[in-house]
Amino acid sequence: MTPKIARFLAEQNPPSPCLVVDLDVIAHNFKRLHKALPLAQIYYAVKANPAAEILRVLEGLGSNFDAASIYEIEQCMALGIGAQRLSFGSTIKKEPDIAAAFRHGVNLFAFDSPAELDKLARAAPGARVFCRIFMTGEGADWPLSRKFGCDVDMACDLLVRARDMGLDPHGVSFHVGSQQRDLKQWDVALGKTKMLFTALTEKGIELKLINLGGGFPAKYRTRVPTLDAYGEAIMKAMTEHFGNNLPQMIVEPGRGVAGDAGVIQAEVVLISTKSYDDKRRWVYLDIGKFGGLPETMGEAIQYRLKTPHDGGPKGPVVLAGPTCDEVDVLYDAAGYQLPLDLAVGDKIQIMAAGAYTTTYASVGFNGFPPLTSYYI
Ligand SMILES: *Cc1c(COP(=O)(O)O)cnc(C)c1O
Repeated sequence: MTPKIARFLAEQNPPSPCLVVDLDVIAHNFKRLHKALPLAQIYYAVKANPAAEILRVLEGLGSNFDAASIYEIEQCMALGIGAQRLSFGSTIKKEPDIAAAFRHGVNLFAFDSPAELDKLARAAPGARVFCRIFMTGEGADWPLSRKFGCDVDMACDLLVRARDMGLDPHGVSFHVGSQQRDLKQWDVALGKTKMLFTALTEKGIELKLINLGGGFPAKYRTRVPTLDAYGEAIMKAMTEHFGNNLPQMIVEPGRGVAGDAGVIQAEVVLISTKSYDDKRRWVYLDIGKFGGLPETMGEAIQYRLKTPHDGGPKGPVVLAGPTCDEVDVLYDAAGYQLPLDLAVGDKIQIMAAGAYTTTYASVGFNGFPPLTSYYI
């Protein structure tokens, strides 16, 4: 936890639960990624944490922004971010939303299917478009496979069709999966990308752009390589496949920028066991899957926890949220241990919780309000 967040929690004693984001860490992460990949333009994935305070800091540092919906596009524009700095990266858009974005001046759109291409040709004539290719999500804690992208053969046909429909077939995108811990996955993706570039050159189309997606990590329970290691692996793969003739590169970090910048402070509501000889305590917090931690689904994202009794003897726990819903269990199989001295009323800090939390919180399930957040 940064001293700034620690001081805020100590001095303000905000109601629990809440998220506190240190904007200096947002700026630091952005700069580190820029340093690790100086040739790539950064498009912050707004959906990771769309707080205006974060967007303003990133805008000041020269970031561009990838929007997942017309609402995010309009939110960015309301903050004065120019349309030329926005991309509409969702592959699933309503035609009127494409038209609205194009009218606003947005000129970079994703697609992965013929029907989406038809919409783009009608609603954003002449626009720059890139085709998202399919990745398996292997090596990622939060895969983005199956639902997105198409195979290389199909992408090739679609990019030709984009040209024939009067669109500008600008490039290729992929996402290797969020919290991607296997650096080789970018090499796999860039191998496919190179095949596509070559196939299209033969058809008279020179693609200009590779969108390398997100996947950059936050620091959860499992150790991850440094951002520099990501940068090196990506540039090595880029030069291996493209030599000195490097296309323009884009990255779209969400988690890698916002994750480590935030800490959720929560409170222990109840500690119990289910029988007298139960070895594991159930620890119920005032935040759960519906309060902003749905990425614990399948125990996929495993946050680091801090308690006032760290360093003392520990025992195994099941960690659960406060709602009257059976699925509101955070960790059961993941083998979490917490101090034996932990008591009802203790504060617990959930580390690296700045991404995919606030906007994921339910509006009022069981009457609990959405997660409050502070940007300092
Ligand atoms: C969600 C998303 C991202 C951000 O992914 P992270 O792994 O959080 O960095 C980037 N690009 C697209 C298209 C996305 O949908």
